[in-house]
Amino acid sequence: MPKTKELLSFQYDNFKIEIPVVTLRGEGGDGPTAAITAGIHGCEYTGIFSLLKLASELDLKKLKGTLKLITIASLDAFEKRNMFVSPLDGKNPNRYFPGAQDGTFTNELNFRLMQAIQGADYYLDLHAGDLVEALVPFTLFHKSGDNEMDGKALAIAKHYNLPNICSSTTGGKWADDGTTYANVAKAFNIPAVIAEVGGFGQLDAKAVEIHTEGLFNVFKHMGNIEGTPQPFIEQTRFNDMVWLYTKNKGFYYNEITIGDEVKKGDRMGTLFNYFGDVVETLTAPADGRVLFRTTSPAMTEKGLIAGIGIRGE
Ligand SMILES: [Zn+2]
Repeated sequence: MPKTKELLSFQYDNFKIEIPVVTLRGEGGDGPTAAITAGIHGCEYTGIFSLLKLASELDLKKLKGTLKLITIASLDAFEKRNMFVSPLDGKNPNRYFPGAQDGTFTNELNFRLMQAIQGADYYLDLHAGDLVEALVPFTLFHKSGDNEMDGKALAIAKHYNLPNICSSTTGGKWADDGTTYANVAKAFNIPAVIAEVGGFGQLDAKAVEIHTEGLFNVFKHMGNIEGTPQPFIEQTRFNDMVWLYTKNKGFYYNEITIGDEVKKGDRMGTLFNYFGDVVETLTAPADGRVLFRTTSPAMTEKGLIAGIGIRGE
């Protein structure tokens, strides 16, 4: 069968895990196997829709090798419109890879996702800004220290052709322990990249197009589709991220724009308490570019304000 559609289903204690998978087997010859996930965060729609379109529209005669598309990885979060975390246990799946069979929903889901990804030659994880998150398009890959593997991941990130490329490490300021891509890279020794385009929980047509172009560019680079990849756009490299948090809860008034270049100490916004007193002035913790920010003014204690990419290769 060139195209199979499966709803993988696992009963586990009181909950059921369902994972929709479309497998496209090329009729155009041999090529690598790509595993691609979207919807690890249930309200990041641009990546999900690019995979649904790919499943529906790709001419298999033009495909070499295999594409395994996990179209909505966190189906419960998608169906409940639950941003960032699972509605069943409140965990962010992208912090609990590689998962485990320990009786909690997210760990079990991640364990099953890892099983579905296993066997691939490379891995892509499609994201966007969630319901209250705005971002400039960026790719993210794990730097392992193995130059050959890191070079392959960087090449895939470059071919996705977004303006910002950030690498992360296990011990960095933004440690990538628990993420999809770092754990897939480590467990299966394959290149793995996250791509982030779009945001605010919007199904923005342009963002879907950018994801789709990125996918096809990578398919050409990896040999899944015939053709020459598009030339690279201008790409800025970052080798770490710093995430900025409030200390207190309150109403946050943002004073920056995504993509802004900030210097350490630059003012980023103000946190008010519920009586209009300024309780915190937030400043940039480092020099860099604002890659994403939270758009909602409602901040919990230790509320996430923004992520700043730190330049470096
Ligand atoms: Zn995400």
